[in-house]
Amino acid sequence: MMKELLATVLPFGSGNTHPTFFGWVQGTGNVAALAAELVGATMNSNCGGRNHGAVYVERDVINWCREAFGFPATASGVLVTGTSQATVIALATARHAALGGESRRAGLVGSPRLTVYASDQAHSSVVKAAELIGIGSDGVRLVSSFPETGTMDVAALEDAIRRDRASGCLPFCVVGTAGSVDIGAFDDLQALAEYCRASRLWFHVDGAFGAWLKIAGAPWNELVAGIELADSVACDFHKWMFVQYDCALVLIRDESLHRATFAARPAYLAAQTAGVGGGEPWYCDYGVDLSRAFRAIKVWATLRAYGAPALGEIIARNCELAKLMESCVASSTELVMSAPVGSNICCFSVDPTFVGGPTIAERLNVDCVIAMQISGAAVFSTTRMNGGVVVRAAITNHRTSQADVINAVDQVRKYANQYRQSSTS
Ligand SMILES: *Cc1c(COP(=O)(O)O)cnc(C)c1O
Repeated sequence: MMKELLATVLPFGSGNTHPTFFGWVQGTGNVAALAAELVGATMNSNCGGRNHGAVYVERDVINWCREAFGFPATASGVLVTGTSQATVIALATARHAALGGESRRAGLVGSPRLTVYASDQAHSSVVKAAELIGIGSDGVRLVSSFPETGTMDVAALEDAIRRDRASGCLPFCVVGTAGSVDIGAFDDLQALAEYCRASRLWFHVDGAFGAWLKIAGAPWNELVAGIELADSVACDFHKWMFVQYDCALVLIRDESLHRATFAARPAYLAAQTAGVGGGEPWYCDYGVDLSRAFRAIKVWATLRAYGAPALGEIIARNCELAKLMESCVASSTELVMSAPVGSNICCFSVDPTFVGGPTIAERLNVDCVIAMQISGAAVFSTTRMNGGVVVRAAITNHRTSQADVINAVDQVRKYANQYRQSSTS
């Protein structure tokens, strides 16, 4: 069986462990977590609750996260599959805060229309979470962002909330984005936190990858100033903390609200005062899952083996590599930047003036990305920007070097050059 696995499965990954994988926002995994997973799989712990070692490892990891994000020691947290699921948990808790405990029985019956606010750069998982908790995508207000920076327009947010309140809606939550998928934009978390506190709104931060700038030192950590004021934070370990899939975190400032939203303990799950059935509180009371994997061991091993300062340095280096990519693009004759680099994401395009127009440039962007994925030269992905499809790189990769970045951009330049030569010959 092992021989077959090594020959027929192992070689066929998508490539995200490779230094020139820049597509979407994908993590690399690391060796310490690989070794830890062997231990975890051997233990085969169910981390829904009870009193055993794995639960204490998860508590250790969550304690570290609380401190890293500047949350109080009384805040609660739970590890989940991804930021998508973490967002559902955070928004469900926010809904519970707005409607009270009665809503667990009555659902949304009799309540005004709940509305949640996020910038137009917000991730699709915010809308999905709103759909799942019964608010519907009609209850999501995508507030405009400033074109250059992608940062939410707080005045427009305040206007939208005022209008909704006047028309009988119940605004209950604002989602700040810390690292948008398209350009790595950061909302002004400090301003949003202050506004939410004054307006009695839940402030959630989607920091899937960007939240980790918190440990990257200056100037990068300034992008997430104010995250410590949030009511909840969702972020991934499997992106910019280099931990194997899947693993994410939701942190909730108010532990009792968090537990009140999810706790459900029938007789067969009753707490014991001692034995394996002890160990309160149980993680199943803080999320959807009862049976839960020992995800914490991967994070614990990553933190122990490398240390948070080194991980923070890699994160900062990834941002500097995105800046390097920007300068390679900007100094080339074949390519143009599509948006300025603010953190670790670089979006660019074949220069329309170099290849004979925007339609051709757009087609070349797509064709080049596909050709490079197939050849294995590098993996970029694409997105839409300024009305067209552009090439996009998100660098969350501790294996990437400066040479990798320079070579990958050179490949795109070469592609544009080959097109120009073939079209003029
Ligand atoms: C990836 C991402 C998500 C979704 O996280 P998953 O772990 O894939 O569920 C949400 N928000 C942002 C900004 C992301 O980059």
